Amino acid sequence: MEIIEKAIKTHVLDKGEIVSLLNLEDASLLYEAADRVRRESVGDGVHLRGLIEISTVCKRNCLYCGLRRDNKKIFRRRMSCSEIINHAQAAARAGYATVVLQGGEEDGFGADNMAEVIKEIKRLGLAVTLSLGEKSFEEYSLYRQAGADRYLLRIETTDKALYERLDPDMSFENRVRCLKDLGRLGYEVGSGFMVGLPGQSVESIADDILFLKALPVHMAGIGPFIANPDTPLANCGKDNFDLSLKAMAVIRLVMPYINIPATTAMETLRPQGRFTALKSGANVIMPNVGGDMSEYYQLYPGKARAGEVIKYRLDLEEKLKAVGRHIAEGSGISKAYLAEDKK
Ligand code: SAM
Ligand code: SF4
Repeated sequence: MEIIEKAIKTHVLDKGEIVSLLNLEDASLLYEAADRVRRESVGDGVHLRGLIEISTVCKRNCLYCGLRRDNKKIFRRRMSCSEIINHAQAAARAGYATVVLQGGEEDGFGADNMAEVIKEIKRLGLAVTLSLGEKSFEEYSLYRQAGADRYLLRIETTDKALYERLDPDMSFENRVRCLKDLGRLGYEVGSGFMVGLPGQSVESIADDILFLKALPVHMAGIGPFIANPDTPLANCGKDNFDLSLKAMAVIRLVMPYINIPATTAMETLRPQGRFTALKSGANVIMPNVGGDMSEYYQLYPGKARAGEVIKYRLDLEEKLKAVGRHIAEGSGISKAYLAEDKK
């Protein structure tokens, strides 16, 4: 197919071309191309990031998310600083080189305490990724100085009207400001979006992809939207797996050197969802290493859970070997980031 050939050679596609790919009935050539570009650009290694979900408390009210503040059915819990550090230590012992601290957007830890947690985890020799939502430039800067390496903040959707409808009291401009501040501070920046939000068009997903390329990001997480019965979007459920996979594959074609996770939401929708994603452009997996907390951290129903940390890693090693892949060494800095020579 001509558009795919062009993308393989130039890594540039316009909006119309992206829409054509997203509309493909049979996308097998797209997936094969994304797999080839992934192999040639970032290799066969799969980077593991140990995910620690540190809090189910959230001051925001995003219509799609189970952690939204108006959801009275969810159990709210914030880990103590020592609990977070203990989980990071266990992840390090199990061979992880990087952890992701993710949680609802809230101020309960205290910025100085969080900075201390980051410093402690850095002393373990781990890379630290944060995914704690929107903060001021000063707070992002404090965490960066404490040693945080990366930050994940999805744009969710670049359709400003849709964004502000789904994320009440939040502004699209501030979301973009956060992403630009993170880049300015020298973080490896991860962003991404959900696919299948009610009111989201294929054209708007093409805009999302072009937005990530323009920013640019060093990592892009694309997840199917999964309706949560305890949210106002309870009845908006449909199966967004294929469209998400196509969006992810297109991103690999136009941003060959970034890191792309096979997201938890993909595994939730298909038993082998993560492996399907790994064959269609992804090169990162984020297993949960945060213990029981994942019981409460229910963004959407049926969220896939990791078993015991070490066993899970060993199982994964075997499964990856069976499909010609392996766990990558090191902390997995994005090649796109290294190319920017920010160090
Ligand atoms: N609070 C931080 C934030 O919003 O950036 C980080 C945690 S938040 C739970 C992580 C991501 O979960 C969001 O960026 C969103 O894309 C995703 N998410 C939330 N609800 C979801 C749903 N119902 N289906 C799929 N993904 C969802
Ligand atoms: Fe809170 Fe993030 Fe969920 Fe929005 S997506 S409700 S900010 S946890």
